[in-house]
Amino acid sequence: MRYLVTGGAGFIGSALIRHLISNTSNEVVNVDKVTYAGNLESLMSVSGSHRYTFEKVDICDADELDRIFRQHEPDVIMHLAAESHVDRSIDGSKVFIETNIVGTYTLLEAARRYWVKLVGERQQAFRFLHVSTDEVFGDLGVSHGRFSEETSYHPSSPYAASKASADHLARAWYRTYKFPTLITNCSNNYGPFHYPEKMIPLMILNALDNKPLPVYGQGLQVRDWLYVEDHCRALCTVVRKGRVGETYNIGGQSEKTNIEVVRILCDLLDEIHPRCLSYHDLITHVVDRPGHDQRYAIDPGKIQEELKWCPQESFESGIRKTVQWYMDNLDWCRKVQNGSYDRHRLGLLEK
Ligand code: NAD
Repeated sequence: MRYLVTGGAGFIGSALIRHLISNTSNEVVNVDKVTYAGNLESLMSVSGSHRYTFEKVDICDADELDRIFRQHEPDVIMHLAAESHVDRSIDGSKVFIETNIVGTYTLLEAARRYWVKLVGERQQAFRFLHVSTDEVFGDLGVSHGRFSEETSYHPSSPYAASKASADHLARAWYRTYKFPTLITNCSNNYGPFHYPEKMIPLMILNALDNKPLPVYGQGLQVRDWLYVEDHCRALCTVVRKGRVGETYNIGGQSEKTNIEVVRILCDLLDEIHPRCLSYHDLITHVVDRPGHDQRYAIDPGKIQEELKWCPQESFESGIRKTVQWYMDNLDWCRKVQNGSYDRHRLGLLEK
């Protein structure tokens, strides 16, 4: 099988490609524009494989997508390319509309043009997995409920609204054209190669630099954390065994407030990499993000019962691995932080 993964230079996409190359015999074509969030160094362990190909392409470019479909003839599309950072979407939403909505539309249409020309078994087996987020559902407040596949959409941020729009497109392409889409909505991921502006890596790296650990408001926002490799296993399960036209929620059943997560990180660092004063002393509360949702929580009952997926990592085991990975890979982090990541992105380091 040939998998076309969009956004494969990002945090989850690179984990997915490492998983596909290391644990399956599938071929992988990575289609990525390599924005600030993309880093080809995250794929160094697999980029030498004869089963891996990279295409530096914007998913808004219909001609290039047509060429890629003609040239690589994929069997499965796993669509992860997106602008993904909520704070950035508040500062400037245009690129979120372009990539997340127009890009998804352009990709759906290119894939459909290719799919209608497939015949027989090849057309029957074709799948388009649209990878989305639990943020489309909006705020659960302090209620005890959780998001199911039937929960209605109430996105709060420009990021969440753009992802919600893309989900609607993917769903409509199935209803209207019988184009074989599946959708997943996943909770917050964490793990290796996460861009350091996101909360968990930011806290680890600030702590190691003895910098303040900035917590929005009182840090009482609840997120449902999932180790990134468990998300990748879930995506592969949905593509292989999921029912076409269906949506599957993916979550780790690991609800934690942000302040709890930061305290766990401080405890781990105090144990693994002690300093004179506890890392807890670095915790600083800062003004809350506008429109900040109070709580997200996923009910993963459908994917667990129907597809027999469940996470392999607990939050305790996954976060320990993550802290250790950042401590062992400070070189990768420093490159991201000092901008040589950007130079690599632009191809300057490849010379
Ligand atoms: P990321 O920001 O780390 O990576 C996004 C990737 O997409 C980057 O490699 C970037 O270069 C690429 N990209 C951006 N615009 C592009 C364009 N126009 N054309 C081609 N490539 C482009 O994101 P992530 O955290 O890995 O998230 C991947 C997907 O999973 C997203 O769709 C996101 O909405 C979804 N998701 C993320 C989480 C999470 O916790 N990170 C949770 C649930 C769902």
